[in-house]
Amino acid sequence: MSGNRITRRILNRKIDLHTHTTCSDGVLSPADLVKKAKEIGLSALAITDHDTTAAWTQASHAAVLLDMELVSGVEISTKHQGMTVHILGYLFDPAHEGLQASLQRYIEARNRRNPLILEKLEEMGFPLTMEEVRAFSGGTVVNRPHFAEAMIDRGYVKSRQEAFERFLGDHAPAYVPKEVYSVKQAVDMLHAAGGVAVIAHPDQFRNNNLTQTLHVLQWLAELGVDGIEAYHGECKPDNALQYARLAEELGLFVTGGSDYHGDTKHRDLGVVSGVEYIPYECMEQMKVVSRKYQSAAIQP
Ligand code: AMP
Ligand code: ZN
Ligand code: FE
Ligand code: FE
Repeated sequence: MSGNRITRRILNRKIDLHTHTTCSDGVLSPADLVKKAKEIGLSALAITDHDTTAAWTQASHAAVLLDMELVSGVEISTKHQGMTVHILGYLFDPAHEGLQASLQRYIEARNRRNPLILEKLEEMGFPLTMEEVRAFSGGTVVNRPHFAEAMIDRGYVKSRQEAFERFLGDHAPAYVPKEVYSVKQAVDMLHAAGGVAVIAHPDQFRNNNLTQTLHVLQWLAELGVDGIEAYHGECKPDNALQYARLAEELGLFVTGGSDYHGDTKHRDLGVVSGVEYIPYECMEQMKVVSRKYQSAAIQP
């Protein structure tokens, strides 16, 4: 009887492997996110801020205090043949010098790009200052959603969606491309730091077109990724199951994450499409694969 209860408890362990904090464009601080994860009953969490691991120190202290398993994470912006690809990294050494130097180049690239966005907005008659935009960020990564918030604050637009449609979106007039690494470079930098590389939210590649997306995943798999985020906060449930099936065929592991950015945004912590919750088994499979990179990544 008690054995059954223990088994059930292990089987029901829920996790979330895709979340954002104030270190990128999330609403909660790293410590508050860990606290919320604990409150809703998650047993493990990864914070995957855009192009930064700045949340790690604060979040890992909170995780120790709250007895929450926290694994290192990041969401790296990359391009493959002109297509934007987000690569999730996990279980790497957050202090790895090579990885941190590579991520630092993202901050520098944003520092070059952001004033150009301001220039374009000013030319269009919608001036903003960098200080105003930065005020909506946590001070580490300043990205387009922060520009959108500043535009709402000035009364230029009513919503983030309107800001992207009229100004900031990839095909809108104030868009400035971001200098990013290729998928292969991101995968290699994660492996070198002892981590695994996972293709994020496949539903975003081809606007939910399943056949095309499955092809994209096959090309990307050849670049050395280890897993596919089949379960995401915003995905067609049927597609999620197809992504999981393809991952199995390709010998890749499956992960899941809500892509939670805060309660004011449209996704809920721990909630994904396709499965009732993200099982701890995803974490276990990821850990097995990460071992081969970890032994190779030990720094002198
Ligand atoms: P950046 O890294 O500065 O290029 O900003 C990318 C972020 O902007 C993404 O992670 C999304 O959160 C957000 N984003 C991109 N395109 C849109 C869009 N069309 N509508 C709303 N948010 C978007
Ligand atoms: Zn984001
Ligand atoms: Fe993403
Ligand atoms: Fe994300």
